[in-house]
Amino acid sequence: MGKPTGFMEYERQAQRERDPLDRTKDWNEYTEKMSEEEIQQQGARCMDCGVPTCHTGIELEGVTTGCPVYHLIPEWNDLVYQGQWKEALKREHEMNNFPEFTGVACPAPCEGACVLGINEPPVAIRTVERAIIEKGFEEGWVVPEPPEKRTGKKVAVIGSGPAGLAAAAQLNKAGHLVTVFERSDRVGGLLTYGIPEMKLPYEMVMRRVNILEQEGITFVTNTEVGKNYSVGKLKTEFDATILCGGATVHRDVQVEGRELTGVHYAMDFLHANTKSLLDSNLKDGMFLPAKGKDVIVIGGGDTGTDCLATAVRHDCKSLTQFDIYDKKGAIRDERGNPWPQYPVVHRIEYGQKEAASKFGEDPRAYAVQTTKFVGDDNGQVKEVHTINVKLRIDEEGNRIREEIPGTEKVWPADLVLLAIGFSGPEQGLLQQLNVETNENSTVKAEYGKYATNVESIFTAGDMRRGQSLIVWAINEGREVARECDRYLMGATVLP
Ligand SMILES: Cc1cc2nc3c(=O)[nH]c(=O)nc-3n(C[C@H](O)[C@H](O)[C@H](O)COP(=O)(O)OP(=O)(O)OC[C@H]3O[C@@H](n4cnc5c(N)ncnc54)[C@H](O)[C@@H]3O)c2cc1C
Ligand code: SF4
Repeated sequence: MGKPTGFMEYERQAQRERDPLDRTKDWNEYTEKMSEEEIQQQGARCMDCGVPTCHTGIELEGVTTGCPVYHLIPEWNDLVYQGQWKEALKREHEMNNFPEFTGVACPAPCEGACVLGINEPPVAIRTVERAIIEKGFEEGWVVPEPPEKRTGKKVAVIGSGPAGLAAAAQLNKAGHLVTVFERSDRVGGLLTYGIPEMKLPYEMVMRRVNILEQEGITFVTNTEVGKNYSVGKLKTEFDATILCGGATVHRDVQVEGRELTGVHYAMDFLHANTKSLLDSNLKDGMFLPAKGKDVIVIGGGDTGTDCLATAVRHDCKSLTQFDIYDKKGAIRDERGNPWPQYPVVHRIEYGQKEAASKFGEDPRAYAVQTTKFVGDDNGQVKEVHTINVKLRIDEEGNRIREEIPGTEKVWPADLVLLAIGFSGPEQGLLQQLNVETNENSTVKAEYGKYATNVESIFTAGDMRRGQSLIVWAINEGREVARECDRYLMGATVLP
């Protein structure tokens, strides 16, 4: 185990961040490197629990707790404490093809389930995870490992997000020839064109994709299967297909004035910004500028936070984020939300810290519902009207939001960003393939099996489970590869 007295000797130190105001002047990562000694101390805090609840990902009350890729957390915590970094890296890669992505962007359900977290701050698991993989790259330990033998089977993976990348990596390990199709000009899915540069840089995605390419995986970008690559060709060229197209259909705010200029989906703002940044350092002007504007972000999740951080860097005039939920408590409610459930507590994420550093206060307004958008004579949005709401659970257990009279408010706005999530995958390709879907429009395929109703077609990630997390996408990508390998070869050695 780590150091038997480590959890008493050392305080939790999660990933250190750069000064919030300074970092808004550039698009570099907002975190700061920590010393090896500091990371070892964090590893030393681990108690090597008999039942390590940190490493078993399950859903409690519909929320993930513990690690969905079953990371060997106590083992690598100890190895880091002992200074055996290369061994720790081996353990990390055993369960997760891309610990660098989860190391920067996972909400760390492992930490929510950490036993130490019952009465002390939990082990800074994600911080240790990230440090191990970064050391691995720095030391040159992460090298291409192409398979020794090829099976002669060909697999198409549609979509290059974390699910597609994980599926491709595993299938390639099993010796199949894998081609990943991506309709965007760059690979990575939402790792590239969702999560912004300062949180998960494209360089980090490409560092891994380069290794995958050297291992023998082919990436075909600017190619939308079902549009400029036909479904017929897919069937004749490949022995199996894995659909990892994500869940990219936006949820909308259906209120008066939605059609006004200046009201956009958050993803249009984020995607265009990253593309322009990577193409030309924002010189080409091909993005939605927030400079000098009153910006309202509707939605309190990760996407909303990413919008805040992007708008601050554009030098917006003001910034407000609407959250439909009430402000949460500082500590978990031991009765309603006991350990090891993921702690439902008030969090201040990087974007909110940055907005507060620029404008002097947290940008969030809680329990706020948008009632209409109002525009000027040119059809440009100028106001957002809202009312506060409270949640009531009726006798049947339905959650009902009731408006609170007298809480109406008008907010000035030049740019409104809708960050209220996604309803499910796009249907075009699925229809062409005759793949069955669930009522909520996700692809019908059992968790753990991943086979669709169509012979040789599998699915994984957000396309199967609906909008979720990187770590679940990696979990499903790994598992779908195992099932596809079993289908192709009659047996499998993949985990
Ligand atoms: C703004 C934002 C921030 C987020 N932040 C976090 C975070 O901090 N932490 C976290 O864990 N999760 C976060 N998420 C969620 C996470 O990014 C997703 O759950 C994850 O990326 C899903 O992976 P995926 O591989 O299933 O799909 P995606 O990443 O969506 O990738 C799907 C890919 O398929 C491609 N595609 C679709 N159809 C076709 C076709 N017909 N032909 C070719 N290509 C196709 C798409 O272009 C896309 O690149 C965030 C999501 C968003 C939107
Ligand atoms: S639950 Fe926490 S203390 Fe226990 S093994 Fe996992 S990381 Fe270590």
